[in-house]
Parts: sequence; C-alpha cells; structure tokens
Amino acid sequence: MKEQYLKEFFEKSPTAYSYHRAIMDKQGILCDYEFLAVNQAYETMMGVKAADVIDKSFYEVFPGGWEGESQWKETFNNAVMSQKATQFDMNHYSIQKWIRVKVFPLHEHIFGCIYIDVTKEYMLDKEIEGFLKVNLDMLCVATTDGQFLKINKQFEHVLGYKVEELLGESFVSLVHTDDVPSTLAVMKDLEDQKEILSFVNRVRCKDGSYKYIDWRSQPNGKYIYASARDITEKRIAEKNLIQLNKTLEKKNKVLKNLAITDELTGLYNRHFIEQRIKEKLERADASHEPVSIIIFDLDHFKRVNDTWGHPVGDEVLKHTAEITRSIIRKSDIFARLGGEEFVILMRRSTIDDAVVVAEKLRKVIEDSGHSIAGKLTASFGVAERRGFESFYSLYRRADEALYRAKKGGRNRVVRSRT
Ligand code: GH3
Ligand code: MG
Ligand code: MG
Repeated sequence: MKEQYLKEFFEKSPTAYSYHRAIMDKQGILCDYEFLAVNQAYETMMGVKAADVIDKSFYEVFPGGWEGESQWKETFNNAVMSQKATQFDMNHYSIQKWIRVKVFPLHEHIFGCIYIDVTKEYMLDKEIEGFLKVNLDMLCVATTDGQFLKINKQFEHVLGYKVEELLGESFVSLVHTDDVPSTLAVMKDLEDQKEILSFVNRVRCKDGSYKYIDWRSQPNGKYIYASARDITEKRIAEKNLIQLNKTLEKKNKVLKNLAITDELTGLYNRHFIEQRIKEKLERADASHEPVSIIIFDLDHFKRVNDTWGHPVGDEVLKHTAEITRSIIRKSDIFARLGGEEFVILMRRSTIDDAVVVAEKLRKVIEDSGHSIAGKLTASFGVAERRGFESFYSLYRRADEALYRAKKGGRNRVVRSRT
C-alpha cells in the first residue's frame, strides 16, 4: 500500500521528476543516460510523452549540440561518479524554457532529477539586462559597503573599465582622494536607508584621468541602486564661466577706475567730478555740513614746458599732486581738472578752513620748488557752498576768485566775494 502511495506521489506530484541509469562507453566513461521513469509534470514541462522517452537515452530524446551541454554532462557526472547532488540551469532549444535541474544520486549508476521552470526568473533578469543596456545613464547595483554587483555598459563608455573589471570592485577605491570623506559620508547615509538625490564626486577613469560624476542613489536594505551621470564638461564650463566672470569683474573695476582717474597724477579726473560730485554734495546736504572748494592753477606753467620740455612739465604736475595730497585730509576730494588746474572739495569745511589749507599749500609749493624746474608758485581761488548750490555754480565762483588771484599778481589765495 505504502509503495502504491509513493508511486502515486511520484506520478501526480506537480513537480517534475525523472530518474535515470547512467550509460558508460566502452572505456567505462560516462557518456549518456537512459530514462527509467518520468512523471506527468515532467511530460507537461518538457512536452514529451513518458512512452516516447522511457528506455531511450538522453541524446536520443534531446539531440546534442546545445549551449551548456558540457556543464550538463558535468552535473550528471557529479551525481553518478562522485555521488554528489548538484544543480544546473539549462535552456534546451527543443523546449524553449529555462529549467533548473537538481540532480542527485539514488543508487550507484541510478540518479534522480527534479525540474523547476525558472524561465520567469531568467526573463526578469533579461529585462533588467535590457533596461541596463538601453539606459543612457550609468546604472548600478552595489552593496552599502561600496561593492559593484551589477553595472551597465555605460560605465565602460564613461570610465573606460570593462564591466567585468568593475564587478566585485570596491567603488571607493576609484574615488579621488579629496572626495573620499564626502563619499563615505554619503555611503553612511545610504546605509541608514536615506535616499541621495544628487551627490557629485570625482571618479578615476581607466586612463588615470578623473571625471565629475553626479550620483542619485536609492538604498534598499543592504543594496544601493544608483544612476550616475558624467557632468565633467558641465563642471568645467561652469568653472570657466566663474573664472570668466571674475576676470570680467576685475577688468570692469580697472576700467571703472581708469575712467575716473587721471593717468598722469593718479588723481580723480574731470569725469569723476562730473559723475560723482553730485552724490558727494547730497551726502553733505543730508548732514547739513559746510562744504568748501579750492581751485588752484600753477603760475606761468607754460614757461616750465617751454624751458624744460613737456616731460619735465609732467613731472612738475605729478610733484604738485604729491605735495597737495600730503597736506589735505583723506576725506577731501582732490582732482585734476585738466592742464595745470586742480580742485579740492572739502566737506565739513567753511571758507575760513579752506583758506587756511590753501594758504598752507601755496606756501609749501613756493618753498619746495622742483629739482629741475626750480621755483614754482600757484594761485588759489576759494569758495564756500551756499545752501544747496550746484557744484557748477560753486566752481564758477571759485574760478572767478582764482582769476582775480592771477590778475592780482599770482602766488596768492583769493576768496570768492559772494
Ligand atoms: P597762468 O599763470 O596764467 O596760469 O599761466 P600758464 O602758463 O600756467 O597758463 P596757460 O593756460 O597759458 O598755460 C598752461 C599750459 O599748461 C599750457 C599747456 O601746454 C600746459 N599743459 C596742459 N596740460 C599739460 C600736461 O598734461 N603736461 C604738460 N607738461 N603741460 C601741460
Ligand atoms: Mg597756469
Ligand atoms: Mg591754466
């Protein structure tokens, strides 16, 4: 009775079973095997009838010349010769399925087989492979401690390594030394199951160069699913742009300074006075402070040029600028209006204050002279701003005073009358 049940169990089991006797060649080497019994599930799975296979050899039923044939031989060799259970996934062309066959020894040359259809598993794998293949990004599966388990061909295109070279490799060993700490920190986050939306590091290519790679990673237990993109060109372009902007900013600054600076003396020029004086006066207006102006002009400067030449004239102008700078306050605005005429705008200064400065300056110019041109003098016109008077009007009044200084015999300071 028990035997009957066992028989029925074998026959009716939804799992496919078979058992076989090994066939040896003349040299006693295992070369094939015959079918002793197969169950119904086997018939369905393999698309054969038991009657058609029993007592036939494997090669009679499934002719040779298929991929994996040698591995298959090895598997049943294990069961017969080494009496060891092994398994093998086969895809025989006649059945169009992926079958996982578990082979186990039964009795000397007799062995049994269990068949499981793993086609779905293979198809899924194939789908994943296909997905990895068509993706333009680098895709990989890695362990949280940074070992590549699966990567697509894009890795080869971008980094130059063959897929096989990277599988099982430690990912961190490819990261630029400077980026290792940040990479490890991100891996720690992944280990803590935190998603990483964008992380950039430099990865060493096969040729030793480095590329900027932008990673997006999703943890899943012990595994990381990541997609990565080469952003090296973008990075370089960004860096160049930043550099370009910096250079441009610097150049703009130089240009701006050039535009408001007198080349010979380094003082502000007329342009500065025209452009910026308004805001300076407005600031003075806001604080209700007195503002005064000194205009001065070197006396008989034409003679310096005529006697010593233009270059010496230039030296004298520079010399005058230096002397003046050493006397006035830092907060005073000192500009060369053109030729040998200068202006000093003094905030928080009444006309009396300005006259004192002008007188001091007059004296210093007269006393110091110039090493080549000799004695120099200058004439000064001084005026104090009235209310919200414009710079132009203030200047005109000071200029009128200067005119009178010249007319009165030069080398003197004259106040504006009004
Ligand atoms: P005054 O006492 O009436 O001011 O006589 P001046 O000779 O100083 O006046 P004038 O306006 O007749 O001459 C100014 C001279 O300044 C004429 C011009 O050649 C010279 N000059 C103007 N700009 C420069 C310059 O940048 N460098 C040199 N070396 N000379 C200049
Ligand atoms: Mg002059
Ligand atoms: Mg002049």
